[in-house]
Amino acid sequence: MKPSPAASAPAGHGPASAPVDLLRRLRARGAGDPVTHVERVPARAGVPAPWPPWAPTELRAAFARRGVVAPWRHQAEAATLAYEGGHVVVATGTASGKSLAYQLPALATLLADPRATVLYLAPTKALAADQLRAVAELELDGVRPACYDGDTPRAEREWIRRHSRFVLTNPDMLHHGILPGHAQWSGFLRRLAYVVIDECHTYRGVFGSHVAHVLRRLRRQCARFGATPVFVLASATSGDPATAAGRLTGLPVTAVTEDASPRGGVTFALWEPPLLPPDSGSSSPVPPQATGDHDDLHQVRRSALRETADLLADTVSEGVRTLAFVRSRKGAEVVAANARRALDDAVPGLGDRVAAYRGGYLREERRELERALLHGDLLGLASTNALELGVDLVGLDAVLICGYPGTRASLWQQAGRAGRSGQEALAVLVARDDPLDTYLVHHPEAIFGAPVEATVLDPANPYVLTPQLACAAAEAPLTPADLALFGDGAKEAVDELVAAGALRQRPTGWYWRHRERPDVDLRGEGGAPVCVVESSTGRLLGTVDGGSSHFLLHPGAVYLHQGVSYVVDELDLADGCALVHAEEPDWSTHARDVTDLSVVSVRSYVDAGPVGMFLGEVDVTSQVVSYQRRRIATGEVIDTRPLDLPTRELRTVAVWFTLSPQSLTAAGVQTSDVPGALHAAEHAAIGLLPLMATCDRWDIGGLSTALHPDTEAPTVFVYDGHPGGAGFAERAYGTASAWLRATRDAIAECGCETGCPSCVQSPKCGNGNNPLSKPDAIRVLDVVLANLPT
Ligand SMILES: [Zn+2]
Ligand SMILES: [Zn+2]
Repeated sequence: MKPSPAASAPAGHGPASAPVDLLRRLRARGAGDPVTHVERVPARAGVPAPWPPWAPTELRAAFARRGVVAPWRHQAEAATLAYEGGHVVVATGTASGKSLAYQLPALATLLADPRATVLYLAPTKALAADQLRAVAELELDGVRPACYDGDTPRAEREWIRRHSRFVLTNPDMLHHGILPGHAQWSGFLRRLAYVVIDECHTYRGVFGSHVAHVLRRLRRQCARFGATPVFVLASATSGDPATAAGRLTGLPVTAVTEDASPRGGVTFALWEPPLLPPDSGSSSPVPPQATGDHDDLHQVRRSALRETADLLADTVSEGVRTLAFVRSRKGAEVVAANARRALDDAVPGLGDRVAAYRGGYLREERRELERALLHGDLLGLASTNALELGVDLVGLDAVLICGYPGTRASLWQQAGRAGRSGQEALAVLVARDDPLDTYLVHHPEAIFGAPVEATVLDPANPYVLTPQLACAAAEAPLTPADLALFGDGAKEAVDELVAAGALRQRPTGWYWRHRERPDVDLRGEGGAPVCVVESSTGRLLGTVDGGSSHFLLHPGAVYLHQGVSYVVDELDLADGCALVHAEEPDWSTHARDVTDLSVVSVRSYVDAGPVGMFLGEVDVTSQVVSYQRRRIATGEVIDTRPLDLPTRELRTVAVWFTLSPQSLTAAGVQTSDVPGALHAAEHAAIGLLPLMATCDRWDIGGLSTALHPDTEAPTVFVYDGHPGGAGFAERAYGTASAWLRATRDAIAECGCETGCPSCVQSPKCGNGNNPLSKPDAIRVLDVVLANLPT
C-alpha cells in the first residue's frame, strides 16, 4: 500500500456517494477483496410524537427552552407507560434520547405532587453528574436535584436526604449507604414514586446479580414505608431487554424498542484481513503479546492492527477525517505509528496528521486534540475506547473498528462517532483472528439484524443470594413473605445463614445476630481480588480477580498492564498481592493447568437420542502446574518451568453435551481423533458464546473429554468461571442450537486448513492448543445439531 500523494490535499466532504467511493478505493488496493459485506444503513428521519396530554405546560416549556420541541415517538410511548404506573425498559440506540423517556414521567409527577421523590441510579458517577446537569438545567421549582455518592460532603448529605426530591446515585451507594441508613431515608423512601435505572445493560453477570438483590432490598424498604415505586430502565439495544429488566428488578417490565430518533446514513463494511502464506506469520513486526492480541504460535491471517494502520493511512491521505478504535492502548500506538510511517513514505510530513490517543489526558490536552481534528490539522486518530468518555468529536467521516468490541452496543457506539450533521459516513469493522470476529464478518445478519445477544444475570446464584439476604436481614428482620421477593433459593440461603449462626429464627422472622453489618462487595467475584503492585514504587497497578490470578500472576509471568510489560517476582496469596517490576523480555509466558470436573447435579436436560444436552452444577478443580516461555518473534518454546501453586475449587453452573461413540464413528470421526474433535469444538463454542450473552470468553471455562466418568460418554463442558454461576451457561443452554450452529459455521467458514486462532485455537488453552482437529469438530457439531431440537 502506498497512499497517493496526489490525493493528500483534504478532499471535500460532500455527496452521499462519498463513503461508497472511498470504500471502493480502499478495497481495490490489495490482491483479493477483504470486504465480506457492505451494509447501507440508511439515514432515518425521526418520528416525532405530540406531548402526552398529561405532561404539564411548565415541563413542556422547560424542555422547549433546551431545544426539545416534541418527543420522539419511543420517548412518548415509554413515558406514558411509566406515567400510567407500568414498569418499562426503553432499549434503543445510542443518542436516541432515552433520558427524556424517564425525565418526562418522573418530573411531571414531581410537579403534580409536591411530596413525591425520584431515585436515579447510574453505573458511574460521571453519568450521574451528567444527568444532574440535565435535570438542573430545566430549572423546575421544588425539584432540587442532587447527586449523593461517596464524594458528597458530609455536610450536604443531611440536606439532600431531607430536601432533594430527585436523588442521583449508584448501586454501590444504595447498597453501602442508603439502604443500611434507611431510617434516615424513611421520608424520602416513603414518598418514592420512580426508580430510574440508567444503562441497565451494564448490570450483568455476578455484579448484575448483586444489583438485582440490592433493588429487591430497596423494594422491601419502600414497601415497609407503604411505597411501591415505578421502575423505568434505559438499556442499549439487546436481545430480550424485557426479560433482562424483569430479572434485574424482579418485576414484570414492558419493553419499548422501536427507535424513532433520526440518524445519519452509514455505509458499514465488514473487512476480513487476508490469510497469509503459512511461513510468513513470524515476520510480523507487531508481537501479538505486546498488543493484547492472541498469542499463538502461527499467525496465519494478516493482523487486524496492520490492516487498520493501512486503512488509516489510506483514508488520511485522501483527507478523510478518521478515527480508529483499537482494543489495547499499545495496539492504538502501533496503529498510529505504522500509519504515520506509511504516510511519511508517501509524502514526508504527512505522518504528522495522525496521532494516538490514550486515556488520562488532561482536559486541556483533550480540548487541543478536538480543536486539531476540527480544524483538520489532525486527520487521523487511533484510540482505545477511552475516547468515548472524554472527547467530544464532531465531523468525522470514517470510523475504523479494529476487532469486534465485544457487544453490539459498543460496536454501534463506536460506529456512531462517524457522520457529521446529516452527512453520510463510512464505518469499517476489521476482523481480528478470533472465532467470534470470523463469524460476524460472514454473518452480517448477526450485526444488522435483530440482536440475539442478551444481558444475563442470575439472581439465584447462592454465592450472591446468601450474602445479600444477610444484608437485608441486617436492615430489617426477614419475614416469610420476604422470601418470595428474593426468589428461588431464598429459603435454603436463610437456612444456611441460620446454621452458620448469622441469623436467629424467632416467631416474627429471622434476625441478624451480629453487631457489625455484613461486609459484601457488589463487584466481588467470590475469591478476593489480587492486587498487582510495582515493588520499586509501591504503586498499585491494578487488580486481577482471584479466579485468574494463578494464570496471570504466577511467579515469572509476563503481565501486561495498559500495554506496559511487567514481570511477576512474587505471588503472595495470603496477602492477596503480586509484586512485579517493569521489564520487557523477548518472551511471553503461558500457564498450563490441569482441570478436573465433576457433575454435582443436573438442573435440566434434553434427551436427543445419541446426543444429550444438560444444564447443572459442577465442581471444577484446577491447578496451575507450569508455564512455558515462548520467544515472541518466532513462537519458539524456550522452556517449561514448574510452579508450586495450590489447587483451586470452583462450584459453578455448566452446560454440557454428550454424544454416543457410535454416532461419532458413523459421522466419520476416528476414535483416536475424538479428543481433538471435542477439544476444538469446545474452544470455538466458548469463543462464540458472547454472541448469545454479553460475556467475555475470559468469563467462561471449558473441558472436553472422550470419556467422562460422570456422563460415561464423550462430553464437552462449558462452565461459568464465577462461583455459583453468572447466567452465561444458562443462556448457552437456553439457546443451544443457535449457539452451536453459529459455532459450527464459524469453524467451517474459516479459510484455514488445520485450525487457527480465527476458529478453533484458544488464547487461554491450558493444553497449549493440543490436540485439535478442525474437520472433526465440524462433524461433532453436525451430529449434535442434527439431533438437537431447535
Ligand atoms: Zn481457522
Ligand atoms: Zn484447550
